[in-house]
Amino acid sequence: MDIRMTPLEVARALQSAMERGLMGSEDTSLIIYDLDRLRSRLQEARQAFPEGTLHAVAVKANPLPAVLRRLADEHPCIGAEAASLPELELALGAGFGPERILFDSPAKTHAELRLALERGIVLNADNFQELERMAGLLGGASIGAAKLHGGIGLRVNPQVGAGAIATTSVAGQYSKFGVPVSECRDEILAAFERYSWLTGLHSHVGSQGCSLEQLCAGVRTLLDLAEEINSRLPERIRLLDIGGGLPATYRDSEPKSSLMDYAQALRQRCPELWSGRYRIATEFGRAIHANAAFAAARVEYVKTQAGVVTAVTHLGADMFLRKCYNPGDWHHDVLAVDGSGQIKAGEAVVQTIAGPLCFQGDLPARDVSLPLLEQGDAVCFRDVGAYTLSMWSRYNSRQMPAVLGMTRSEEGPRFTILRARESVEQVLRFWE
Ligand SMILES: *Cc1c(COP(=O)(O)O)cnc(C)c1O
Repeated sequence: MDIRMTPLEVARALQSAMERGLMGSEDTSLIIYDLDRLRSRLQEARQAFPEGTLHAVAVKANPLPAVLRRLADEHPCIGAEAASLPELELALGAGFGPERILFDSPAKTHAELRLALERGIVLNADNFQELERMAGLLGGASIGAAKLHGGIGLRVNPQVGAGAIATTSVAGQYSKFGVPVSECRDEILAAFERYSWLTGLHSHVGSQGCSLEQLCAGVRTLLDLAEEINSRLPERIRLLDIGGGLPATYRDSEPKSSLMDYAQALRQRCPELWSGRYRIATEFGRAIHANAAFAAARVEYVKTQAGVVTAVTHLGADMFLRKCYNPGDWHHDVLAVDGSGQIKAGEAVVQTIAGPLCFQGDLPARDVSLPLLEQGDAVCFRDVGAYTLSMWSRYNSRQMPAVLGMTRSEEGPRFTILRARESVEQVLRFWE
């Protein structure tokens, strides 16, 4: 199975869904999630990393309960990385036990820390002040040390440099996350001396735009620190949480980096990960989800103005927030299909795909070459499994599309509804 859904796979899946009446006349857009592909990514993660590694998938990349439940059911080694109270509840509700949940928010309140500690969720502290708060809570009567199943770690910034996308790079000299290793080495060591319950180290280098070398350098820095702490305080560091950040492939011309390639590169630079001395955790989001879904949006009108052909469709910055606001950094390939889901043939014409929202920047694809779109066609956006629906914007109060899950069988594709199309009432309730 290719990492990405090919254009033909996308079109066939859409056609099948349409044939079964799953894209009704009121469905101006639809998302289809390839659950077999999701599964194969999870299996790849398990094969690539040392046995027993906890793969805590970032909830923010895709918080759909129906998807989270599949992750939870897949294998006990699959977990969830949460960064807010609702994300914690989503993970617990999907069936992840507390020892499979990592809680990483940089702004945890007293109440959130208490709840996470009481439930035995694995925590990563972002800074020394948070450690102090935890020490206060752990000294209290309600939380015994026995509750610390998974343990508590400290997030450090390995300062290995920013990646290609500034807004998702968190390992430059400055970052809003974690304790910078080069400036605070002594304080970090002192914190481990002081708090005997501190047994983990965590880092995350960035999201998309980080090279394998950068990611490996971040893990190397984390590992060096762990070895130093363990040389002073034998066997203190037990959990090494190496974060996520493996880029997903959004263009065929990009080099495809797989979880296998990343693990292979880590084996070279960081063989200690395979020594059995540490429990490893990862926090991949994008690499697990991105390539497993596509979205289809119906074309409502096509107009030519000032020499620009604009196809007005039903998905824009509500779903593609990053791409619309920052088109230089983010990309989704698009595909033109007709009203029955067939790939459109014909001479390519340069066109702009506009969304339905009331601002000029609502252009999810600019100057793309596609067969001329017409009313009733649809545009398919590829690789939308991560950081698209999860960043849904309420601007103009449009309804979130239905999300279908697809699996393959001998009789052809099977679909389930992962999330029904949002009703007008649900949108109204959101604003109440
Ligand atoms: C966002 C985030 C992740 C997931 O990043 P991906 O690029 O989706 O793999 C993991 N850990 C932390 C702390 C994050 O903030």
